[in-house]
Amino acid sequence: MQEKKGLVFDVQGYSVHDGPGCRSLVFLSGCPLRCEWCANPEGQVIKQQVMYQLKKCKYEEHNCRRCISACPYNAISESGDSEKPLLLDRTKCRECTTYDCTKACIHESLELSGEWMTVSELMAVIDRDRRFWGDGGGVTFTGGEPFMQKEFLTAVLKRCKEAFIHTAIETSAHVDTASFLKAFQYLDFAFTDLKHMDPEKHREGTGVNNKLILKNIAALAASDWPGILVIRIPIIEGYNDSDENITATAEFLNKIGLDIVNILPFHRMADSKYNQLGMSYKYAEHEETPDEIMKRVQKIFLDHEIGCFVGSNTPF
Ligand code: SF4
Ligand code: SF4
Repeated sequence: MQEKKGLVFDVQGYSVHDGPGCRSLVFLSGCPLRCEWCANPEGQVIKQQVMYQLKKCKYEEHNCRRCISACPYNAISESGDSEKPLLLDRTKCRECTTYDCTKACIHESLELSGEWMTVSELMAVIDRDRRFWGDGGGVTFTGGEPFMQKEFLTAVLKRCKEAFIHTAIETSAHVDTASFLKAFQYLDFAFTDLKHMDPEKHREGTGVNNKLILKNIAALAASDWPGILVIRIPIIEGYNDSDENITATAEFLNKIGLDIVNILPFHRMADSKYNQLGMSYKYAEHEETPDEIMKRVQKIFLDHEIGCFVGSNTPF
């Protein structure tokens, strides 16, 4: 029987802010949300995508045209603009399965966004990193939304538990409740995102309303899962930072008995990824969330007796 494969768009070692101790982060492709400020746009779909880094391209310097002749669909053409010499027709790339352009590009200017891996292949990478975790570390699954590849996720989680590896997840919780709760038998720690308490505002910013997310967070809080659940909130100035929204979030957490949040300031570090993918980025000009806002939000949570950690200043 063939082993299950999953699309993994990154594996990063030595993370110290995404769960207890030193950890490896596994980024699984696919997401049911489309947050306008998304920091990992290359992980939104379960499909390898071509990323084009202009600064590595040798079109001018070496008169390189290798990708143009390699593409069987004529999707790459010369623009005539020296600032942006190549035009990539991504409507044609959507049907592509060979990605011959990336194989032809010896300068790593064109690269694929992810790699299809079997459970064993991913476990070998996790195992390779394991010796660097030290005491109390482990592996954290993030994305994208890890539950978009739930069968692969569950298979890897199960293998981790069999190998006595501490497991964590960062999830939007936008997944059917049965699958969500079932996976927690293999999880020790979880970050669940919560972007807005108002269903319509949530839909405006992320493409989906928050009903399933709130239901799943409440269901996990009420379950007998013995792990630690931290609510993660990206604080986006002008979107979800109002006193009214943060108070509503705190009251919801009080009601279901959760008492730890990690608030993350918005940053623009994903800017170059949007360029590489040819995607527009609504937040390209948006300012990073100022410290005063983070402190105001933190105070509201603390006033509701909820432990509130800002950014990477966390004990986990
Ligand atoms: S991904 Fe495929 S269709 Fe798109 S440019 Fe590369 S080879 Fe051509
Ligand atoms: S093959 Fe690579 S380096 Fe050459 S023109 Fe294409 S993208 Fe640029």
